[in-house]
Amino acid sequence: MHAERLNRVRAAMGEQGIDVLLLSVGPDLPWLIGYEAMPLERLTMLVVPREGEATLVIPRLEAPRVVDRPGVFALRPFEETTDPIRLVAELAGAAATVGIGDRTWARFVVDLQGQMTASSWQKASVVTGPLRAVKDGAEVFALRRAATAADRVAAQLQGGQIPLVGRTEAEVSADIGRRLVDEGHQRVNFAIVASGPNAASPHHDADDRVIRAGEVVLCDFGGTMVADGGAGYCSDITRCVSIGEPPAEVAEAYAVLHEAQQAAVAAATVGTSCEAVDAAARHIIEAAGYGDRFFHRTGHGIGVEEHEDPYVVAGNTTALLPGHAFSIEPGIYTAGSWGMRLEDIVVATASGPDALNQADHSLVVI
Ligand code: ZN
Ligand code: ZN
Ligand code: ZN
Repeated sequence: MHAERLNRVRAAMGEQGIDVLLLSVGPDLPWLIGYEAMPLERLTMLVVPREGEATLVIPRLEAPRVVDRPGVFALRPFEETTDPIRLVAELAGAAATVGIGDRTWARFVVDLQGQMTASSWQKASVVTGPLRAVKDGAEVFALRRAATAADRVAAQLQGGQIPLVGRTEAEVSADIGRRLVDEGHQRVNFAIVASGPNAASPHHDADDRVIRAGEVVLCDFGGTMVADGGAGYCSDITRCVSIGEPPAEVAEAYAVLHEAQQAAVAAATVGTSCEAVDAAARHIIEAAGYGDRFFHRTGHGIGVEEHEDPYVVAGNTTALLPGHAFSIEPGIYTAGSWGMRLEDIVVATASGPDALNQADHSLVVI
């Protein structure tokens, strides 16, 4: 798995004219070698020359965490008194063009640039972005496993097993987070709980507002689940529940949202552009008169990272490929009163869109 990914990375480096890739914190490293760098002041960096062996430069005290992958990379632990910047610069040699991991801390980038003055610098995502966007079979399996676990938490919400009335959003958010871990996630990435008027803010942070009967509660949550090979894959789902029968205005809007979301899922076939998938949802919401209340993109790619390529947004003419994995999550937001969003993770396949989330799509009344 890792050797094969490394081969694809090297081929892409050739196409992009990148001589060496330097990967530190962020999703590229676990995707490529199954190891996640600790986000610390001590540098961890994988040096990948286009030809020749890859080397993981790592503080000696963190070396025991690394799973050896013979033939993929060599381990180069360094002592507390060693300058790792110099070590990386030596391993990179006279690279004319460097691809530096997008999330590498500026303190390391600045020091590396001070030592490698003859090199020109690009973002590593030029190489890794398009490769990571197309999931292989093992990655789709991992995404489905995470999605299924998130579905189980959504079913608990819809089944009334997660108490809402009288609790604060923050309490419900913590409860959802615990359940994500119970269902097999190693990490909770977010658990948005937005009740009543708070749901009109798409990225509302759960706060101390007490949830009341008669309200619609929007829950958008996801975590990371470690798969075979060492990298973690993300889940991300949104479901809304109504505590008691919703007002007609809300039920009508939800019917439009549901139709729009299903239309965009159905539109996500191989060869269709990302912007056409966005339009499939948007046209339905616009035609129903809610166009100005749907003011974000329809979705984002997902994998080792919660948000990555491809983005399902107007202006993105990228045609879907088999293995592209992304969210479909239109919303309708009425400032001051209510908000709603419906989100599934979908994989484009040769035999049509594969929706990984199966939790009830309706506005479940609890
Ligand atoms: Zn988001
Ligand atoms: Zn979400
Ligand atoms: Zn999402």
